Amino acid sequence: MWNALKTKVSERYPEMVKWRRHLHQNPELSYRESATSGFIADTLKSFGLDVATGIGGYGVTALIRGGRPGPTVALRADMDALPIQDGKACSYASRVPGVMHACGHDGHTAALLGTGKLLAEMSEQLSGNVLLIFQPAEEVAPGGAQAMIRDGVLEGVDEIYGVHLWTPLPSGIVATCSGPMMASVDDFDLEIRGKGGHGGMPHETVDSLVVGAHLVVNLQTVISRNLNPIKPGVVTVAALQSGNSYNVIPDKAYLKGTVRTFDPITRKLARERIEAIISGTCSMFGAEHTLNYKVGYPPVVNSPAETERLQNVLRGVLGTEAVREAEMNMPAEDFSYYLERVPGCFLFVGAGGEGAEYPHHHPMFDLREEAIGQAALVLASAAISRLNGSAASKAI
Ligand code: MN
Repeated sequence: MWNALKTKVSERYPEMVKWRRHLHQNPELSYRESATSGFIADTLKSFGLDVATGIGGYGVTALIRGGRPGPTVALRADMDALPIQDGKACSYASRVPGVMHACGHDGHTAALLGTGKLLAEMSEQLSGNVLLIFQPAEEVAPGGAQAMIRDGVLEGVDEIYGVHLWTPLPSGIVATCSGPMMASVDDFDLEIRGKGGHGGMPHETVDSLVVGAHLVVNLQTVISRNLNPIKPGVVTVAALQSGNSYNVIPDKAYLKGTVRTFDPITRKLARERIEAIISGTCSMFGAEHTLNYKVGYPPVVNSPAETERLQNVLRGVLGTEAVREAEMNMPAEDFSYYLERVPGCFLFVGAGGEGAEYPHHHPMFDLREEAIGQAALVLASAAISRLNGSAASKAI
């Protein structure tokens, strides 16, 4: 079953590796992906596709029109790299100082190019269309997904699918789940203003450092006392900066932190409690404050019907033991914005193993490259099974 599609993907695999290594050697930071975007557009044009560029920044799309009418399924890959110095010594290591594909977005792009090529070749057999979405700027909020959506990328799209190559999972395994899969992320900056003075005369001051220290502790009660215990959430104060001497009470203190949740109600509650605790603690000590609460990506929430359908398809394509239930993850993804508007599913494609032991965003990060072929197989089978039905798709 599905052997024809597997053969087509494996025929495309050497080319996908070539594309991935080219991108890996030439990484570009979020919002600056001009050469990457040009490479994607040129490659898509070489398949004979109509390509649109400049969507939501450096975003690129191509529509594959099926031979028969039907729905439109979108497949999305992201393309940006990170401000990390590549620590690998391999032939395809980054040639750009301080910039590296340390999250696998090079592999996502290569996999979707491979998927696009094989779907373009078999377009006459498709009952509906496939929109390829190559998105810039996933790593840095506000992110490329919102910008592409504003530019109309989802117009006419019925469902959307995307993958993340994932080294915590071994190569060969695919994981997803219905409902929440990745967290929302909101960050905050807080400035506390007290009244500075002599370290030996605290009664003349408002000690901003003491206020900050209370807040580090008080903010932990958002999770321990306000959140429903069966709902996951994180409030991390990651920085408290204040003072630099023995005998000066500092007039200012600065806090930075991040907030992760999986549903809108918890997310709203966390924000309200953080704001209230900050106001209350500051006023309790007579300090003033300015809070900058930076709303980031919403949680990735897979729609149940589409996820269950795809899980069944993938059990047929990859084997039952290769398809796992994903655990909820605290990293965030702006794929969430697409899923807020159209049904679909995001999946982790295992990319860990020998030579790929490092976590994402690490200077030694690498992928098991066969996972790129696996990602292409997942994306292609997601689209084909939706358009043609899984029974008919097996013969394609
Ligand atoms: Mn990523």
